[in-house]
Amino acid sequence: MVDLQGQYAKIKDVINPSFNEVLESAAFINGPKVHQFQKNLEEYLDVKHVIPCANGTDALQIAMMGLGLEQGDEVITADFTFAATVEVIALLKLTPVLVDVDPITFNIDVDAVRKAITPKTKAIVPVHLFGLAANMDEIMTLAKEHNLYVIEDNAQGIGGDYRHNDGSKTKTGVIGHVASTSFFPSKNLGCYGDGGAIFTNDNDLAHTIRGIVNHGMYKRYHHDVVGVNSRLDSLQAVVLDAKLPHLDSYNNARRNAARQYNQAFKNHPKITTPSGLSDCDSICDTCDCHVFHQYTLNLKDVDRDGLVAHLNENGIPCGVYYPIPLHKQKAYVDERYNEDDFTVTNQLVKSVVSLPMHTELDDEQIGFITKTVLDFIDG
Ligand SMILES: *Cc1c(COP(=O)(O)O)cnc(C)c1O
Repeated sequence: MVDLQGQYAKIKDVINPSFNEVLESAAFINGPKVHQFQKNLEEYLDVKHVIPCANGTDALQIAMMGLGLEQGDEVITADFTFAATVEVIALLKLTPVLVDVDPITFNIDVDAVRKAITPKTKAIVPVHLFGLAANMDEIMTLAKEHNLYVIEDNAQGIGGDYRHNDGSKTKTGVIGHVASTSFFPSKNLGCYGDGGAIFTNDNDLAHTIRGIVNHGMYKRYHHDVVGVNSRLDSLQAVVLDAKLPHLDSYNNARRNAARQYNQAFKNHPKITTPSGLSDCDSICDTCDCHVFHQYTLNLKDVDRDGLVAHLNENGIPCGVYYPIPLHKQKAYVDERYNEDDFTVTNQLVKSVVSLPMHTELDDEQIGFITKTVLDFIDG
């Protein structure tokens, strides 16, 4: 699904010497490299504060801790996402409230969010799923009406833009009150181990969070709040700082691959290709909204699992993200859920398939993949 070796070969001349520098300096934790990457990412995103941490799951948890959410507070998020999103809500003894997604964008359905709001609701967690920004203008308006926090789960969306209703653009992850991201190796900006970060423009929240990631310490050995230990190490920061200048070109390479896939599957009656936002529906040269963490097809009247097997037999990796709705996962079942409220997710888990997507795909590979998909579907 990804080609990290191919990508590494192109940046190893930058990474290897910087790795050696860290080894010689022995500043493994909180060294100057971490600070340098943090500053560079703040500048890239145009956000006041980036707080690096150990992984994207921690980042989400710490964001929620920073906002002071308490046991019993309800947090609304999408039924169709990676489990980490709902996991941290439950871990903090908050009440997860899962809602359905939009059938075209796969992102959280704002009408469903509106219906799920109760006096106990404290936050909404939109996920920019597969690299496409959620409907942030409507989510922010709704949140304001009900005095709710918005925590963007930007693990799959880094480097992407959100196009506001007025046509202006903002980077994903700097629209809500706070955002989390992951630097897991296969993410669009990935390191060579685990890593993550929290973004916010709120100075007070940033201060609170900087203490939380460091055992609740604001002054050495004074623990004012219960915190965690979650940090990015210098070696990972080296990788991230070497890759950050390439992030836009990496995302462009992904979009290029997506454009070629879309072309091959265009107007096929059984295949729905990924959509951009409504005003940039086709993936064009100027459309930089979607960053294609995954390239996901929605199939109709196709034996999806048969297709997966056929692709695998031909040496093509593919994935089903995600095969089970979160509301049906054992850990998160809740009698308050009603199947009629999850018709979209219940369908998507049966009909989606994600094709290989990374920065190193070439025309020949894409041609082979699309031909193999079409051979199966068209018999
Ligand atoms: C990857 C991912 C996470 C978790 O990130 P880790 O770094 O693996 O902890 C959270 N949310 C979403 C949507 C993700 O894709």
